[in-house]
Parts: sequence; structure tokens; C-alpha cells
Amino acid sequence: MDEKRIREDFKLRLAGVEDGNYSFSVCCNKEFFELAEIEEVLDGQLDLRIEMVRHEKLVTLSFHFDGEVTMTCDRCLLPVNVPMSFASNLIVKLVPMVEEGENDDDDDIWVMDENTYELDVFHYVYETILLALPHKVLHEDDPNGNPTCDPSVMAILDNMSSSKNEEETDPRWDALKNLKFED
Ligand SMILES: [Zn+2]
Repeated sequence: MDEKRIREDFKLRLAGVEDGNYSFSVCCNKEFFELAEIEEVLDGQLDLRIEMVRHEKLVTLSFHFDGEVTMTCDRCLLPVNVPMSFASNLIVKLVPMVEEGENDDDDDIWVMDENTYELDVFHYVYETILLALPHKVLHEDDPNGNPTCDPSVMAILDNMSSSKNEEETDPRWDALKNLKFED
């Protein structure tokens, strides 16, 4: 994996860039997810389009993500493809001097030195994707409302859960339940 090359894609040059509109395309693929250590994502291809508008000391950036990631199904633990399409905005204010603590409050507004050579949005992109990932991932149900998870895995899981139920009715537990505490 060429870490340096991947990270280079997320560096947007500011120095010497005149007022105007700019557009960049970056691909967040498997190499990106490995480098970013987003473990929930097994594989993926998110096309990222970054629109940058520079107007004097204000730089506004909009990020548009579109594509698909592969995650683990919470039910059968096999891979499932999750289509994703989302966007976010970042505002960068360029100032003569950055005061201490000025960047603490808001993740979407950065205050930076006006002599900043380039913006590194790798971590911003990483955090934006992380926030957009679904918390629960399942294979979709078919039109009849039945899960489309792998049937052989589902059979094993069914077996495991029914033997677990048997343990739960262990007579020793019943004895404990009936135990009365004396005052
Ligand atoms: Zn599944």
C-alpha cells in the first residue's frame, strides 16, 4: 500500500490559489479504508467529489460521497454491500494569526493561518465517513419479509440460540428464582 500517495490525494493546495471555483475527485477505496483503519468496512468504493470555492480569506468546501461499502451483516456475519450517498460541508477561515483554542469548538469550521500551504482533509474525510456509516447492517428481507442471509449460517445460528435457551431453563436457575430471602 502506497500510504504517501493515498494521503497526497487529500491535500488541497491553498498557496497561490486565486479566488474561484475548483473541483477535485478522490476515490476512497479499500486501500483508503485500510489506511484509515475503519475496521467496520471490509471493502468499498466511495467516489468523493470535493467542490472548493475560494473567496479572499474564506474557503468553502463541499464533499459529496457516492458509492458502496462492504460491511459485516449483524445477523449472519457475512459480508453485505451497503450503498451510500451523503454530503458534508467545511468552512476554512484564513486569518493573519490563529488564536489558541480557536479551533476547539466546531469540526466544520477551521481557522487557519493565511499562509497555510495546503489543506489536509484526510482526517476530515475519515470522520465524515465514520459518522455516515450505519450502526446496524443486515441483509435485506426478500419481498415475502424473509431475511436473505445465508441459510446455512442461519441454521447454525438457530441451533446455537435454541441450545442457549435450554441452558436458560437449567433447574438450578429455577431453584434460585424460588429462593426466598428471610427478613
Ligand atoms: Zn446476513
